Amino acid sequence: MARADKRTPIAETPMKPTLATVWLDGCSGCHMSVLDMDERILEVLSGMNLVYSPLVDAKAFPEHVDLTLVEGSVSSEDDLHKIRLVRERTKTLVALGDCAVTSNVPGMRNPYLVKDVLDRAYTENADGPRKGEIPTAGVPRLLPWVRPVHEIVKVDVFLPGCPPPADVIYQMLCAMTQGDSAETAVRMAEAVGSLSRFGK
Ligand code: SF4
Repeated sequence: MARADKRTPIAETPMKPTLATVWLDGCSGCHMSVLDMDERILEVLSGMNLVYSPLVDAKAFPEHVDLTLVEGSVSSEDDLHKIRLVRERTKTLVALGDCAVTSNVPGMRNPYLVKDVLDRAYTENADGPRKGEIPTAGVPRLLPWVRPVHEIVKVDVFLPGCPPPADVIYQMLCAMTQGDSAETAVRMAEAVGSLSRFGK
């Protein structure tokens, strides 16, 4: 008769939720606000695994991500491809900051043709021997328009602000690690008026 296996089963380590941050057409200010959590980042990362971000080395967006913060609007073919992939692979997608929520500063080019925008940057305002050379290789092609993220893919949570305050980002991430929804944390921040807006 086979002996009963008396080994104690190894306790399963609970999986931490995964976190990603993505940078589309934005100034990086929203990512700076993430960094402005300062030492609280360590607390957040004790409850979540950061699997993709401009702040870490991962090159490919992972298959399954619990929470993705998206900075910036959708302005180029690269942005378009990226946000569709990110949406497919993300459970809760947060539009982080006014560029993601409304298109904000990047959207200021919307009244103009792409050709006029490029001429303005590379010819009218340029100087030196390469004046008038519009780069075509190694740079993403601009779309004819700039769009906020929710006009391209479904957004689960909107976190406005230019940039959103670090305290609010922290509250949202803590809420996620404690089992609350990110949306609940953003609603609380709105209620106490701790969100900011561009120009205020
Ligand atoms: Fe920069 Fe403001 Fe846009 Fe964030 S919302 S990327 S801080 S311009």
